Amino acid sequence: MTDPRPTSPNSAKPPFNHPRADIILRSSDNVDFATFKSILFLSSPVFEDMFSMPQPPRRAGTQVDKDDIPVVDLSEDSRTLELLLGFCHPGDRPIIETVVEARNLLVAAMKYDIGFIRVASKERLLALEKSEPASLFAFACTHKIRDLAIDAAKLALQIPEPDLLPKNPSILPPEFFSISAGNLMHLLFYHRACVAVTAGIITTDLDLAAQPLPRCTSCGAHPQYVCSFWRDFQSRLLPTLRRRPSGETVMTIGRYLSISCSHCAGSDAIRNDANVCIKKMAVRVDDLINKVPLHLDF
Ligand SMILES: [Zn+2]
Repeated sequence: MTDPRPTSPNSAKPPFNHPRADIILRSSDNVDFATFKSILFLSSPVFEDMFSMPQPPRRAGTQVDKDDIPVVDLSEDSRTLELLLGFCHPGDRPIIETVVEARNLLVAAMKYDIGFIRVASKERLLALEKSEPASLFAFACTHKIRDLAIDAAKLALQIPEPDLLPKNPSILPPEFFSISAGNLMHLLFYHRACVAVTAGIITTDLDLAAQPLPRCTSCGAHPQYVCSFWRDFQSRLLPTLRRRPSGETVMTIGRYLSISCSHCAGSDAIRNDANVCIKKMAVRVDDLINKVPLHLDF
């Protein structure tokens, strides 16, 4: 089998071309990253083990090259190594631009057991794939990343089930070819179970969670002086919550809160009280959702 890498590697850009570097990591697309064993050693127990072993001059996967600096061939591409090393080196953290970058970095962080990069890349993925949670779920299942699969399933609750899966068969993302049918079905079962939980929520439940409610002695819309805008808000919230069963749905609807009662409309205190109530309701909804199990086969 021939090595697909061309014979003359390119050097990476600064800071990965330092003249005093003592190790070179070569990417799968043949870019040499000159760095320091101590940085890798401190960042990753996998690299620590690698460099703690006796280093013969030549062995599989390692060669001595470039002024006697050891070269280690890695399977990651140059952008992934640039990000991985950028997080480990002193200085500003690199910016993860795309979903592909975040996914590759997360897989590499797991391979080299670098916890802080795992956290950073996972957070970035959850932000970048907010509108494609099923795709993210499929990726997480393919790589058996359980915590990410659970977070992706929760993200999926912000999308109604009919819109959850890709609709265009000609551009079906590759991760849908590798996820098991069982795990994909369990994403749908989980979504339906959460919908069922929120379908049982009535205004009284929300009132109890949100106490004390915004009070108003003017509009007299409720025998307990609860202002009319609160009932308007709940009547808009409940149908949406039953399609998108998540505390984030409560917060999203709450951001567009309209106070129709003229007595309360200009009151910052009433608006602040309402925002506190909305946050309490969101917490209550998430408490209920967190009790719904998600079954995964890994
Ligand atoms: Zn009012």
